[in-house]
Amino acid sequence: MSKKNITDMLTSYDKKDLRICTVCSHSSLQIFNGARKEGFKTLGIVVGKKRKKMYDAFPLGKPDEFLIVDDYKDILDLTDELREKNVIVVPHGSFVEYLGADKFMDLDLPTFGNRDVLMWESDRKMERKWLEGAGLTMPKEIKDPHYIEQPVIVKYHGAKGGRGFFIAKTYEEFKKRVDKKKKYSIQEFVMGTRYYLHYFYSPIQNTGYKMKKGSLQMLSMDRRDETTIDEVQRLGSIAELEELGIHPTFVVTGNMPIVMRESLLPKVFEMGEAVVNKSMGLFGGMIGSFCLETVVTENLEFKVFEISARIVAGTNPYIAGSPYSELIQPDLSTGRRIAQEIKYANKKNMLDKILS
Ligand code: AMP
Repeated sequence: MSKKNITDMLTSYDKKDLRICTVCSHSSLQIFNGARKEGFKTLGIVVGKKRKKMYDAFPLGKPDEFLIVDDYKDILDLTDELREKNVIVVPHGSFVEYLGADKFMDLDLPTFGNRDVLMWESDRKMERKWLEGAGLTMPKEIKDPHYIEQPVIVKYHGAKGGRGFFIAKTYEEFKKRVDKKKKYSIQEFVMGTRYYLHYFYSPIQNTGYKMKKGSLQMLSMDRRDETTIDEVQRLGSIAELEELGIHPTFVVTGNMPIVMRESLLPKVFEMGEAVVNKSMGLFGGMIGSFCLETVVTENLEFKVFEISARIVAGTNPYIAGSPYSELIQPDLSTGRRIAQEIKYANKKNMLDKILS
């Protein structure tokens, strides 16, 4: 969708009656709760009737109105109806994954953020070009598995939530476990502690860490809970278990709150700033929430293994604010911050600067 279309689409919108809309999944309770706190009406698309029951159990997290569909692709047939309701879509990981990247790109609805980021984020080569181009350090890539000389993590392309990833320490181990039918990349397994950093970049407000254009906020950070790797030691050492043919997996099941030693925070901001600045030259700039997934080594160096360019589920422990967002505004979640940005842009007639 071109910028021109978004401007055209918004002219038919009743700006006094905007509705925040997303699919009921992932971080939608927080998105609806945040929108509600900022005075927006909300609309939740439920895929499959059964889910509504769960959302009804959270009066302050559920949408004002539900739209029930059988399948994600049915959303594509509802765009006229949704536009008549003046919806602004707030995308999240499940929304993009289950609708499909191509369909998400073509979705005829005003959407928070710059959708062009998807191309850069979903292709591991382009992602590396972006992050390393911004001066960030990524885990080393091993191009030829014959040269595995240290523990590596093998990642299948497009696999979400760490599904199917495995660790190998030698070429033989790699050969035994790899599924050659799938596209994969091999990365150095970085030893250290994981921090998933949740930022918010506003191109139109100067309320945070000042940048050459707009400003950056650090809203929170989490550590993911991943099964089975995070608990596998309850049964024995990984080496012991692997001998029995039991291999750890990296499937995300939840998120835990965390704070970082304060002396590392300047670097956190510098990394966020660099990634946003680089994105401006590459595809016109990232907007709103994004997450850098990092490992901090014993030398206190950050290695960034991935970026997610929208609200991540790791922000969910912070519906009532985080130790960082409390220093910006009480009770500020990422969902609420998104609603604030839409509210501010609407008031200043700048919606086209934050939507695509
Ligand atoms: P990803 O899908 O890239 O977010 O990776 C899934 C999980 O694998 C992460 O949350 C980490 O626990 C782990 N992981 C990914 N890359 C690395 C790496 N290079 N070194 C160590 N652990 C990693």
